[in-house]
Amino acid sequence: MTVGRELARDERKGIRRLVTGWCANYDSGEDICLPLDCSCYMLGKGWTGSFCRYFRENVLPLDPVLEKAVCEEGPPPDTKPCAVCGKPFLPEGRQAYCSPACKDEGNRRRSRERMRKKRAKPGQGRYDLGLPKARDSKGS
Ligand code: SF4
Ligand SMILES: [Zn+2]
Repeated sequence: MTVGRELARDERKGIRRLVTGWCANYDSGEDICLPLDCSCYMLGKGWTGSFCRYFRENVLPLDPVLEKAVCEEGPPPDTKPCAVCGKPFLPEGRQAYCSPACKDEGNRRRSRERMRKKRAKPGQGRYDLGLPKARDSKGS
């Protein structure tokens, strides 16, 4: 049988964020679980193990890092901060971004940086249109 461990502060905060933001059974006005008609079991939880089934199956998977951390035994998973937004995620291979949106943004930043470096090199990065060189216009 799995021995539970105390949830870290960030994990409790993550669970609260998921319940209040995503659980379809949570009533924020009354601050209760509608089917249970009492306070949400997950919000009072201090230990891993025996999660609310609806939460475990439908809500927790929205945060794969938290899911892995609170559902698996052993040390916390090896996460990596996203190179764009900084959010921790579980990398696959050399993956550097947490989502396709961050990947697009990361690629945009990299190409901007490449262009900036290219322009910084003397004689590079400008198009030569073959126009005569501008002269000092004073008096001519
Ligand atoms: S007990 Fe479960 S279903 Fe009810 S509000 Fe909390 S997480 Fe949602
Ligand atoms: Zn990101």
